[in-house]
Amino acid sequence: MSNEFLPLCRPAIDEQDISAVADVLRSGWITTGPKSAELEESILRHTGAQHAVSLSSATAGMHLVLLALGIGPGDEVITPSMTWVSTVNMITLLGAKPVFVDVDADNLMTNATLIEPLITERTKLIIPVHYAGASLDLDAIYDLGERYKIPVVEDAAHALGCEYKGRPIGKTGTCLFSLHAIKNVTTAEGGIFTTQDAELAARIRRLKFHGLGVDAFDRETQGRAPQAEVIEPGYKYNMPDICAVLALGQMKRIDEITQKRGELALHYRDLLTAVGGITPLSIPSYEHRHCWHLMIIRVDPLIYGLNRDQLIARLKECGIGAGIHFKACHTQKYYRENYAEKFGEITKPLTNTEHNSEQICSLPLFPDMNFSDVERVVAAISEIVGNK
Ligand SMILES: *Cc1c(COP(=O)(O)O)cnc(C)c1O
Repeated sequence: MSNEFLPLCRPAIDEQDISAVADVLRSGWITTGPKSAELEESILRHTGAQHAVSLSSATAGMHLVLLALGIGPGDEVITPSMTWVSTVNMITLLGAKPVFVDVDADNLMTNATLIEPLITERTKLIIPVHYAGASLDLDAIYDLGERYKIPVVEDAAHALGCEYKGRPIGKTGTCLFSLHAIKNVTTAEGGIFTTQDAELAARIRRLKFHGLGVDAFDRETQGRAPQAEVIEPGYKYNMPDICAVLALGQMKRIDEITQKRGELALHYRDLLTAVGGITPLSIPSYEHRHCWHLMIIRVDPLIYGLNRDQLIARLKECGIGAGIHFKACHTQKYYRENYAEKFGEITKPLTNTEHNSEQICSLPLFPDMNFSDVERVVAAISEIVGNK
């Protein structure tokens, strides 16, 4: 058995991707330009969305879409606590109240039934999260949004390559994809906003670059359009071409990448059925194509007297990287200590969120792994829990 460190994640970058980055470095234009435009086009082709805007991160995109929708003090935004902190931070920084919705006990996704009772007069937006590579049950969530006239922005950070009822995520609605280094397709740091709303897309494009009506790079003439001026004050959230180019090859291989991740995940799931007390997330029964972003298990501390944190520490001793996606936002220091004072008591219960927040553990999953790596991880887990 190899003792070489097996990380939680390794980006799916090949030699061609590396030379493509070198070509951009040699080209004389390294920031936002033709490559980020190409990446936007590739996302449009893949998802079938009407508009795509490349950004420095999904978090930046979340900030901009909240601004564009006019979210501010007095407003409520419904989102799970079982999410990456960026969404909750952005809502809070804008002075609005993050209203935490619980998630399904086994697939960690929220749904219309959990969201509906939290809707008030002040609810301005719903941000559900496609989790771990599975799709949300979008139809019911959009029906709810339409009934109450509340917009929905999908956190699709995990969902590039995922489909719901035969449609790629992004083909409908408004989505934020992340291209952070851990994600299925990466630009190191980066995000993509997609929408069917031309006006919203134009606003996000403007806000991401100083509030100018144009990108720095004129796509035809390689020069700043001389008439560019501030239409409204904006931010500096554009994606450089040295990043964008990295994802172009991955986008060409995305079906292959998704396929390989799925084969590895299914091998994990097969082998793990023999290990009691270790439960992978469930796969939703509605029609969807999973893109296997994360291989998450739950560690039941009552079975072996071993908790999740101990398992992670022991795996690390075996040269295996593991992680937590995620520690529930409302249990993190700032929100624990300040939420009630700022926003009032948290609406409970968040039973499934809290239970999973304690037990979830993400195992190594990336396309360059092979079956023997999966077998090594499962053997290590069996040995660790068997020795307890
Ligand atoms: C990664 C992630 C984000 C943020 O993406 P960045 O590109 O790093 O800003 C948001 N939500 C979820 C669920 C994520 O996993």
